[in-house]
Amino acid sequence: MSLNCVFCKKPVFGVGGLTVPELGPAHKNCYDAYRTMRRTFRTIDITRLSDAELADLKDLVLAEENDRKRHSGSDKSSLNDDIELF
Ligand SMILES: [Zn+2]
Repeated sequence: MSLNCVFCKKPVFGVGGLTVPELGPAHKNCYDAYRTMRRTFRTIDITRLSDAELADLKDLVLAEENDRKRHSGSDKSSLNDDIELF
């Protein structure tokens, strides 16, 4: 059984090959090029998310961003503001 790269369709041999989740075998170079083209974060291809899932992800990112700004802020007077944010 020969395994072909899901991107360039040429055979993938042991060295330099990898398996892309949900896609199949690929050359490392082809996969790197693919990741640059596609909007992926770690194992998530965000172009495959539904609109609702994308909105959830966006909310999560914004919430995390706000949280970090609050905690990393040198402004000690913002302490009271934290309580009012809900
Ligand atoms: Zn390839």
